[in-house]
Amino acid sequence: MKLFRRMKKINFYSGPAILPPEVVVKAGEAIQNFAGTGLSILEISHRSKEFIQVMEEARNLVRELMDLDKDHEVLFLQGGASSQFYMVPMNLLGKDETACFLETGQWAHLAMEEALTFGKAHIACSSKEENYRFIPKNISLPDSSKYLHLTTNNTIYGTQLTTSFISQLAAQSSWLVADMSSDIFSRQMDFNQFDLIYASAQKNVGAAGITIVVVNKNILGTVDRPIPKMLDYRLHIERDSMYNTPSSFAVYISYLTLKWIKQQGLKAIEERNIRKARKLYEVIDSSKIFEGTADDEDQSLMNVCFTIKDKSLEEKFLKFTSERGIVGIKGYRTVGGFRASIYNAMPEDGVDILVDAIKEFENKQA
Ligand code: PMP
Repeated sequence: MKLFRRMKKINFYSGPAILPPEVVVKAGEAIQNFAGTGLSILEISHRSKEFIQVMEEARNLVRELMDLDKDHEVLFLQGGASSQFYMVPMNLLGKDETACFLETGQWAHLAMEEALTFGKAHIACSSKEENYRFIPKNISLPDSSKYLHLTTNNTIYGTQLTTSFISQLAAQSSWLVADMSSDIFSRQMDFNQFDLIYASAQKNVGAAGITIVVVNKNILGTVDRPIPKMLDYRLHIERDSMYNTPSSFAVYISYLTLKWIKQQGLKAIEERNIRKARKLYEVIDSSKIFEGTADDEDQSLMNVCFTIKDKSLEEKFLKFTSERGIVGIKGYRTVGGFRASIYNAMPEDGVDILVDAIKEFENKQA
């Protein structure tokens, strides 16, 4: 394990992203011989008792970590969070009904656009005009809205909704739907206040290939359009996410990651995430050459976005950091600069290496 850690780069990619080293090692073992079956996890039937057990345990781990009540069902689907952008309105929004959206980033915008195919969309607030550098707090919610959709963490812009703001919105809205792709299981929260949660796995809870969906089964069946089988949450609930062949290897990686999350505990994970983010924001805030791009009060614990005032130093900084084994910090093209994604699996000493690199680079420029 030590050797493995030493060989690794310090991975700040936004997703697919860093995994706990023990998850990668165990996944490697299962590629050779899964659960003592003499078969690879890549080769075994999803109908085998060994794989069904993985699926069941993964589902139970999500239930347990989120402390879900009996109305909430857990699904492992395919098609990424992007498929949930249309699957949610297809299942929940009638053609004359309105869904509300907090337009806090590109992904939220895309979710809103897809809803227009099925019903009406109301933008409850937007920070689009200012390149989504903050979370607007003045929300307009029409009484008649069917559900409110929010993106809890805006991966590209490094902004995040606080848990208290989310609870405030939950109290005001009818059904609450959340895209938690980039901060699921990063902090403690009342998960039962959501009627539907979706998250691609490849940032905080596994590898690319599956999307976790948690849905309150009581909200289903209220639209009268025909829904193709593969896009109907009710069928996936009935068939335990095995209506068709699931993305079995990706389910297995999420299962291992969920076990790791349980072992660490959400409370400890949250505390560590706060410490990691604070270290980075402090060094950026006290710098004369770097600056953060998100408003202070909305800064994300998961994606720390920053720029360098003198743009001609950008490439130099990227080279400087890559020489120190730091990868994946180039910012998204619409924001520019840098983005350090510090998901659950990023150890504190990984963040320390980036903090030191920022300081050292700045000293060199002085
Ligand atoms: N929502 C958020 C918040 C994201 O960060 C992303 C991807 N980065 C998506 C949705 C889209 O996810 P996918 O590529 O899995 O469809």
